[in-house]
Amino acid sequence: MTPLTGESAVTVLGLGPMGRALAGTFLRAGLRTTVWNRTVTRAKELADHGAAVALSPAEAVAASPVTVVCVVDYDAVDAIVRPDIVAGALRGRTLVNLTADTPGRARDTADWAAGHGIGYLDGAIMTPAPTIGTPGGVFLHSGPEELYRRSTPVMEALGGTHTHLGADPGRAAAYDIALLDVFWTAMAGYAHALALARAEGVTARELAPFAAGIAAILPPIFEQAAADADSGRFPGVVNPITSAVASMAHVIHTSEAHGIDAGVMRAAESLARRTIRRGYGSDGFLRISEMLAAG
Ligand code: NDP
Repeated sequence: MTPLTGESAVTVLGLGPMGRALAGTFLRAGLRTTVWNRTVTRAKELADHGAAVALSPAEAVAASPVTVVCVVDYDAVDAIVRPDIVAGALRGRTLVNLTADTPGRARDTADWAAGHGIGYLDGAIMTPAPTIGTPGGVFLHSGPEELYRRSTPVMEALGGTHTHLGADPGRAAAYDIALLDVFWTAMAGYAHALALARAEGVTARELAPFAAGIAAILPPIFEQAAADADSGRFPGVVNPITSAVASMAHVIHTSEAHGIDAGVMRAAESLARRTIRRGYGSDGFLRISEMLAAG
């Protein structure tokens, strides 16, 4: 492995699938890159491509003005960067945390960094590891504008689109959480649909083009709902919630007739029924977003 000599442009802490994609992309962009991972064997391929491998997090962060950390969660981030020796080595440098976790943890980490004289940016990666280094990568950033501007040349070496969402360090994580909510509930719905279709003798292959068609209906709904939801309007002219619950009930009945758990749909249906009981039956389905907050 390449020994650590001289200053790098960027350090990457964490070499899971995403950390390896980030470090590999920095290297391909021609940036001198130092890497560190708890399990050192994961650095082997990057070292073969020219990465310098640090033997400790403190050594790694001391090698570059900018360190990107991307590990499983903020407990892991804390375990790596909060020991005094690492925090001391980060003082006066920039830490870009691309690990996913909650907005509260992001703000807490920003407070900790400020208390240790560390420039801190918090970010979220919204696309899978293979998109890194391609135009398809999507990065969200939050934290001080000036620090973001200074880190831009390094971040843009990762390709894709980068959006700075403002000074609140929790804002990128807030978008991330909301978007993961969309993703995982949609994936849970699709997993359920596959089970239901299989029970009815429909293969995943047969369903796929029609499932894609359903997914394509959603973006225009999101756009329209943005204007409506922000003004507290949920028009149900085309599909009132009273009609929506009827079609949800069909999914529940068919599932349960096949012995398939309908818990996810039951949860959504019960929210919709509660919304109707409160007098919003002629509104659209997204009125339930207000019921969720109302408890
Ligand atoms: P993982 O989420 O599986 O994280 C693996 C990394 O975390 C490894 O470097 C692992 O080290 C390290 N780690 C875990 N626990 C600790 C610990 N206690 N101390 C030190 N290091 C620890 O892999 P990914 O690389 O896929 O994800 C990293 C982040 O990127 C996550 O927050 C994820 O949500 C986000 N992300 C990932 C995407 C993807 O496509 N993979 C897409 C978008 C976001 P070791 O190798 O030693 O186990």
